[in-house]
Amino acid sequence: MAKVLIAGGGLAGLASAAALGGSGYDVDLFESRPFLGGRATSYSVPSSADEPGESIDNCQHILMRCCVNLLDFYQRLGVRDRIRFYREFYFIEPGGKISVLHRGRLPAPFHFAGAFLRLHCLSRADKIGIARAMAALRRERTRRTDLDRISMLDWLLQKRQTPRAIDRFWRQVLVSAVNEDLDRMAATHGFQVFWLAFLARADAYEMGVPSVPLGSLYSADSWRRLANVRIHFRSPVERIGPEGFTVAGETHTADAYICALPFERLEAAGLAAPKFEHSPITGIHLWFDREITTLPHATLLDRTVQWMFNKDSGKYLQLVVSASRDLTPLPRNEIVDIAIGDLRLYFPRVREATLLKSHVVKEQRATFSAAPETEYLRPAPETRFPNIFLAGDWTRTGWPATMEGAVRSGYLAAQAVCQMLGAPRQFLLPDIA
Ligand SMILES: Cc1cc2nc3c(=O)[nH]c(=O)nc-3n(C[C@H](O)[C@H](O)[C@H](O)COP(=O)(O)OP(=O)(O)OC[C@H]3O[C@@H](n4cnc5c(N)ncnc54)[C@H](O)[C@@H]3O)c2cc1C
Repeated sequence: MAKVLIAGGGLAGLASAAALGGSGYDVDLFESRPFLGGRATSYSVPSSADEPGESIDNCQHILMRCCVNLLDFYQRLGVRDRIRFYREFYFIEPGGKISVLHRGRLPAPFHFAGAFLRLHCLSRADKIGIARAMAALRRERTRRTDLDRISMLDWLLQKRQTPRAIDRFWRQVLVSAVNEDLDRMAATHGFQVFWLAFLARADAYEMGVPSVPLGSLYSADSWRRLANVRIHFRSPVERIGPEGFTVAGETHTADAYICALPFERLEAAGLAAPKFEHSPITGIHLWFDREITTLPHATLLDRTVQWMFNKDSGKYLQLVVSASRDLTPLPRNEIVDIAIGDLRLYFPRVREATLLKSHVVKEQRATFSAAPETEYLRPAPETRFPNIFLAGDWTRTGWPATMEGAVRSGYLAAQAVCQMLGAPRQFLLPDIA
């Protein structure tokens, strides 16, 4: 079988490796770090001097049932059953009042109607406006040609959404899903999230949360079933060219090469790269001496922290702030103070609790910024070299920078390799609608 070399052991590179390895190709994957997963990974943080380190995710990663390629990738690694799905979304207002969004008995796109009408956090006028905008979104999705040129906020204002509907509904869902503010996000991404996750199919919105640390999804055990994939850790690829990969000064050759590096690393490897901006994400890990909440997760309205995930018996909480440009310049202790101040408003038990430990992860280069006029800059897998292909969440996947987007890019690059080698294969699964 033909041989393929892959640079980068994030989800894009791993998805290419799993697809090609599963089809009998001989695959060597080079990863610069001593572990896999790239931006979706876990590592050990030291506890106290007498306790062993604890494995935590760099930041809570979630998926939805509409992430069909990511789920297919987990299936290939035999870890699909480690994703736990939730049907309820909890919106909490300062003061602690909870609204729950879940599907009812009606078919899509009306499956949320009952729960939506009962949400306390929105007024009647907000809801009527949102329902109108949803109907417009269904109509305009395939008809408007300017959705990559205008921002999502422009579109929401065109649809006369109330300030509260924008803040408590549209912003709350989209800023986390696309990792960008509404005024900096191309409307096309907002459309895609709402269409696929909320309107197209009744179960598509269900939120999947890994029940194990992210890193263990791609452990050595998972790769044992793909014996012809060899993974080389601590092996930065120095140069990528049609004649091969340079690793530690040595040239490695194959029939095809996949570059699955972050876009900012391409130039150093000798390839042309688009000039995207980054958008940051801040993850805040807090360990308390007592249970703070019994909710598995919640989206927190009107403050800095956007999501809370209950990682262990309500005592270990993971908080997420997407598009966190205001937070990243702050020292870590100030970020923890802001988070605790926010939590007190939603969960009164924080007031009596003692914070045992905290850990803040500032991912400055979390994703590319999905700004207007960006889509056409995202490259296809093919490059000017017939034997070099690109993968990565920043390539043209049709999705924002997400785990699903990264896996899609990996499958697309793998398909392009098979095509070039004269043995076309289909790895990419179509979207649910
Ligand atoms: C804090 C945070 C939270 C997120 N939350 C979510 C979420 O909830 N849901 C979701 O779907 N997505 C989320 N994302 C986005 C998701 O993690 C990414 O879109 C996805 O993991 C990108 O995968 P990738 O393979 O394209 O890139 P990367 O993960 O960046 O992989 C690139 C790999 O290349 C390696 N590398 C770099 N240089 C070299 C070299 N010279 N040689 C060899 N290897 C090299 C890197 O070490 C890395 O492993 C989040 C991202 C962050 C940062």
